[in-house]
Amino acid sequence: MPKPEICPLCEKGTDGFPIVGEFVYGGRQEQHFYKCPHCDVAFLFPTVSEEEEAKFYAMEFEKFMQGRAGAQGGWQGPEQHVAANEGNVTRRMKYLQGSLPSKGGTVLEVGCSSGFMLLKLREMGLDVIGIEPSGVFGHYVESCGIPVYASLDEFIAKSEKNNSLDLILHFFLLEHIRHPLQFLDQCLQLLKPGGMMFFEVPSRSDPLITIYDLPAFHRFYWSVAHHWYFNRASLEYLLRQVGCRFELIPEQRYDLSNHLWWALTGKPGGSGKFSGKFTPELDEAYKESMRQTEHCDTYFVRVIKPRGLKQSIAYGEGSGS
Ligand SMILES: [Zn+2]
Repeated sequence: MPKPEICPLCEKGTDGFPIVGEFVYGGRQEQHFYKCPHCDVAFLFPTVSEEEEAKFYAMEFEKFMQGRAGAQGGWQGPEQHVAANEGNVTRRMKYLQGSLPSKGGTVLEVGCSSGFMLLKLREMGLDVIGIEPSGVFGHYVESCGIPVYASLDEFIAKSEKNNSLDLILHFFLLEHIRHPLQFLDQCLQLLKPGGMMFFEVPSRSDPLITIYDLPAFHRFYWSVAHHWYFNRASLEYLLRQVGCRFELIPEQRYDLSNHLWWALTGKPGGSGKFSGKFTPELDEAYKESMRQTEHCDTYFVRVIKPRGLKQSIAYGEGSGS
């Protein structure tokens, strides 16, 4: 069986990386997620080829997600996807609202899928642009009158937007990116000085793993579509390389019902199932406990591009621990 020799993120070696994800959803038998003892990232090895990957995102990603998320995810089509993501818009706007650019400011979302975030931001008076490799979603976003590019490289080549964007967003994208540092650097180039990048990534500190350690969840969680699973330590490692001020915000998306459902049935899709039997305070307190103890399933990240033109590297300031 092939084994990794160096960590693809920090490029350090070790005597045998421990396996944290034995079974890879959608993957091959010899693929596993390994944990790096230096930067604490979990990484897929062996990876899929760049060719296979490009094909996957152009042709198969919605189908793959429909299989994972079931009917609740809204992956059947773009309109259903916009409707199914109303909750995500509200959840993200709570953290975004205070730091949005003023009206007329330019926002780019990389991996905008059906455009549900951009549609909301356009309603608020912002100038929005999307990047989306999926044909079905990309065409839909375009049909809503939002300019769409198939890749960040295409956008950079065609748009001449260096140092001009106010805000760059990407949600559940970074874990899919083969060269995350290069990607973050490209995004920062596009931002104007003082501009912000705001993104969301799944967290390996997910309570179903770090508290309950559920075998059924492990078989679902580690996905072949991801190169990485980050936690606070590995995100801080990555963001320190970028050399900007940043902030990590712990977030818990899935609720107590979802976790009970996993424990009872070993299956996804339980969100909200028992909420009618709980007080809203219990539901909220459960999530808040996960955020505070950082047994959380997600992180939001804010990165601010320095105002100085050639500011020497200011090392990141993580919040908390
Ligand atoms: Zn590493």
